[in-house]
Formats: sequence, structure tokens, C-alpha cells
Amino acid sequence: MTLAHLLLRQALVAPERTALLHGTRVSATFGQWAARSAALARRLRQAGLHPGERVVVFMRNHPRYLEILWGAWWAGLVVVPVNAKLHPAEVEWIIDDAQARWAFVTGDVAPPALRGLQQQIDVDSAAADALLAAPAGHAMGAEEGPVDRDPQDLAWLFYTSGTTGRPKGVMLTHRNLMTMGLTYFNDVDAIGADDLIVHAAPMSHGCGLYAIPHLMAGARQVVPASGGVDPAELFELGRALGPLSTFAAPTIVKRLVDHAAAAGLTPQDAAASFKTIVYGGAPMYLADIERALRVMGPRFVQIYGQGETPMVGTALARHHLADADHPRHLERLGSVGVAQTPVQLRVADERGRSLPPGEIGEVLVRGDTVMAGYWRNPEASAGALRDGWLWTGDVGSLDGDGFLTLKDRSKDLLISGGSNIYPREVEEVLLTAPGVAEVAVVGAPDAEWGEVVVAFVVARAGADLDAAALDAHCLDRIARFKRPKQYRFVDSLPKNNYGKVLKTALRQRLREAS
Ligand code: AMP
Repeated sequence: MTLAHLLLRQALVAPERTALLHGTRVSATFGQWAARSAALARRLRQAGLHPGERVVVFMRNHPRYLEILWGAWWAGLVVVPVNAKLHPAEVEWIIDDAQARWAFVTGDVAPPALRGLQQQIDVDSAAADALLAAPAGHAMGAEEGPVDRDPQDLAWLFYTSGTTGRPKGVMLTHRNLMTMGLTYFNDVDAIGADDLIVHAAPMSHGCGLYAIPHLMAGARQVVPASGGVDPAELFELGRALGPLSTFAAPTIVKRLVDHAAAAGLTPQDAAASFKTIVYGGAPMYLADIERALRVMGPRFVQIYGQGETPMVGTALARHHLADADHPRHLERLGSVGVAQTPVQLRVADERGRSLPPGEIGEVLVRGDTVMAGYWRNPEASAGALRDGWLWTGDVGSLDGDGFLTLKDRSKDLLISGGSNIYPREVEEVLLTAPGVAEVAVVGAPDAEWGEVVVAFVVARAGADLDAAALDAHCLDRIARFKRPKQYRFVDSLPKNNYGKVLKTALRQRLREAS
């Protein structure tokens, strides 16, 4: 059984139902989707691609994205999703490392000929039309069923963002992703066949993976006409089709909330456009989620995971976010919630000994969503997987009820004058200062202190910020040693395609300046 069987099942049960949309236009029923993916699979096999081989997908969000993923799985191939923002040289490095011979690309992100490939298919070309053309009608009978693979076989070779050194290929199996999909129903949200997921965030990442639970439920999947995040378009799309679910990094949530506030929309209006917004992938600050709930109402669920255990670590459920009467409501809002159903989670010291509630250590995860290891990298695999536990590199603490609060990535921790400082804590405080829109705190090397705290601050439109006022704000709220020694006022923060602030780029700027 593989992920391809999920599509076969829907194509048998509901061949005529709408499955895929591009904007408001239907691009495939379940029958058509399966027939195209099966036809693609047959042609890939005829072209000499064998089960287990890797196929790169280097595309912006596109109506054919899911047909290609499922075509590859139907043929028993391993998909290598590539972030559409990567430089061609980075993609070529991945092609070489993954030993991939074929790639599906969109012309806007890929140069005409990436090195190392036998075939590069532009999904908007006649060649792609021919590969995906289903036999007359859309009868599945003309095509073979999915290639049988073991659930332990690889489905998804996901290259991590690699903030230090080369990216690593995270090996995820059909079982990993099947478990991830089923977990959604218990820990994130119920999905009905009339539901809609919109893929506005990059499909090479979490949003694309959420295609799996939505296919399991026979729901519709929409790629916005723009292919990306345009808040006005998304609100309108929801009004036209019915309330949408989506996965969004906190920066995207912020843009949706800003739009709703600027357009004077009520939470009822927001409910007409959005059913559920799952957020995660980077820290959501307390001030931001409080505002999001106020402006858009209770349509949020948080997840914490990482490429190595995709979308599954903890979840902060809708009812936890809504439970304002709970005595520890604010702490919970600032947490990432409790362990999701298929995993155990603990916080440990550097020797792997579990720490009691309240103590800070590294977050360890064990369960069926955890990767099989890093591709052709036994050394890194042995470092991340120890005694069956995934060492996430995230630092946090559990409370007595099992809620996990993240402090930072272990490498983002800053040590100033011998004291540990978690940038996240300082960021949370600065975000409550009037006029502050965004902030990122990093350490700068310092002869006297080892490191000093530096805050990069983006002002709200029209706001006038000054360092003295921010310093006074911090002095009222956190220990003196934690407050920034330096403020840098900037127009925007550098972010990757997934909305994560690139702290390495900020540290680099500081090094260059000194
Ligand atoms: P990636 O492997 O690119 O998905 O990045 C995963 C990392 O993003 C995690 O290890 C965390 O450091 C961070 N992350 C993911 N979800 C959250 C969340 N809900 N809150 C804070 N940080 C998160």
C-alpha cells in the first residue's frame, strides 16, 4: 500500500466529483486526476524509470503539481520536492545528491537546462500534455493500478533548508506520510468531502503535504490563480467556493489578518472565507495570535513539526486557543501545544535524560512519522536519530499538563556574559511595544560579553520608533541582561520561501558591519 492507493480509492468511489481546482475553475475530477497520474506513471516506466528512483519537482504552485506527485507515486518513484526559490546551483546540487535523472519544472523558476538531468519537463509544455494525457474518457480501466511498494519504501526526499553547511535529504516513507495524513483528523481538524484546501503557501513544503489528508477525505484541492499568497484573492476565493482550509507560516497569517483588519472584515466575514488556518513552521508570537483571534475568530490550529517528522510533533487545538477562561490560557497560547497522537515527545538534557516539567532542554520525538534517516549521510543520521529518538535541535520546556513551549533552535541560543538568552523571549516583549511590526533578535560577537543582544526591528506603517523607548519598554518587562544592546531599524526582515526569518543572514550582516 502506498500514497497512490489513496487516489485510486477516491477515483473508484467518486470518479465524477471535483478534486482539483485552479482558482474557481475545475481542473480535474478524481477520475481525471487518477487517469492522468496513472498515464504519467505508465509513461515514466516506459521511459525506463524504475520504482525507487528519484524525480525532482522544482515548481511553483501549479494546478498540475498534485497530478505529478501522484503520478510519481503511482510509478513507485520517490519525489524530491524542491523549494521554488532555490538558486539553480542549489537545485543542481540536490539533483546530483539525490541521483535524480528526471525533473518536472515550471519555466518561471527553472533555467532551460539544469545540469545533471536526462529529462527536464516543463509542466506547461506540449511534452507535459503528452505525458499526462489520459486515454479517451477518463476510464481508469485502461491503466494499471499503482506499483506495489512496501510502506517502508521512500516516498518523499525532502531537502532541509540547511542553515549550516549543505542541505540534507530527509528520507520519508509512505508510512511516515500516511501516518501524518491520518493524524490530521485527530489532532488538527475534521475534514469532510465538501471541504476545500487552498495551496497558497509553497506546495514543496507543509501545505503540499496536507494534500494527503484532504485526499483521504475526498475533499477538493485548490491552487489559487496567482499560485501564491494574495490575501484579497484568498478571501474572495473562499467567498466564491466555500470556506477554505490552509497551512500558513506565521508571516502569512499576519498578512491575512492585516488584510482583514484593513478591509474592515468581521470574524463572521472571515468565517465565510476560511474554515481552518493551520499555522506553524516558525514562532507565532503571543501578540500576533491574540490579534489574529480577535480579528478573524477561532479558525486557527497550531502545529509544530520539522522536515524530519513532517507536520507532526505537537498541536495546539482550536479549543485550547479558544479556552480563554483557563487559568493558564496565556501560557498555552504561547506554547505549541501537546504531543500529536502518533508520537511520544520529551525534553532531555544533552545526555538524553528526561527533564522534569519547567526545565529547558532539547526536544526529542519518537514515533511513526519520524524519518528513516538522512539520504546517503549515515553520520548525520546517527547524530539526529539516537536510541530511536529524533533529536530535533529545538530547545523548549514542557509544563505539568504536557504543553511544550519552544525557546529557540539550540544554535539560536545566545550567551551573553555567561547567561543564556533565548531570543524568542526578547522578541515577544518587543512585539508588545507600540509601533513595532516585526522583530528578530540575534547575537553579535562582543569582546567583553562574548555575545551581545541585537534587535532588528521593522516599524508599523507611520510609526516612529526610537531605541530609548524600546529600551524602557524592555526594562519594565525583562531582566536587564536580556535587553538589546543595539537596535537596527530596517524596512523588512530577510525570509526564506517558507516565511522563516533568516537569522544567519542577519548575523552575517552584523559580521560584515563590524
Ligand atoms: P522545517 O524542517 O523547515 O519545517 O523547519 C522546522 C523547524 O521550524 C522546527 O525545528 C522549529 O525550529 C521551527 N518550527 C516549526 N513549527 C514551529 C512552531 N509551531 N513554532 C515555532 N517554531 C516552529
